[in-house]
Amino acid sequence: MLKDVLYSTLANKCPQCHQSNVFITNNPYNLKRFDKMNVTCDCCGVKFEKEPGFYQGAMYVSYALMVGWFVITWVFDTYITQAEIKYYLAFLITTTILFMPPTFRISRLLWINFFIHYDKSKIKKEQKATVPNSPAHHHSDMANT
Ligand SMILES: [Zn+2]
Repeated sequence: MLKDVLYSTLANKCPQCHQSNVFITNNPYNLKRFDKMNVTCDCCGVKFEKEPGFYQGAMYVSYALMVGWFVITWVFDTYITQAEIKYYLAFLITTTILFMPPTFRISRLLWINFFIHYDKSKIKKEQKATVPNSPAHHHSDMANT
């Protein structure tokens, strides 16, 4: 269960079938495209944006992640590095800005995983069959165009 959520979140995979990507690029530092999402899953057809404004709730997740980072680094600095406060703050602000793209994506992926759960039975078997030879499909496609 938790393993499924972590896999979907960290690998950018559909929460329901773990086959297709949620964000179109796997690179969070592709700044033109890091926030672009597929509308539905290519494999199981689940809608990634369940309703308009669905991802507003993901802001709370990203807030929680940022607070977590603050607490971890604060404890680390207090007990281990013991840097001056100005250096600590510079570090905190810099890392928070640098981590913004992945935080944005992880928040959305965690958020959608709250609502959609992994279900192996939703993987479409015919997905695999269409790759090598499916002349029937090709003919019907051409007839339509
Ligand atoms: Zn899927």
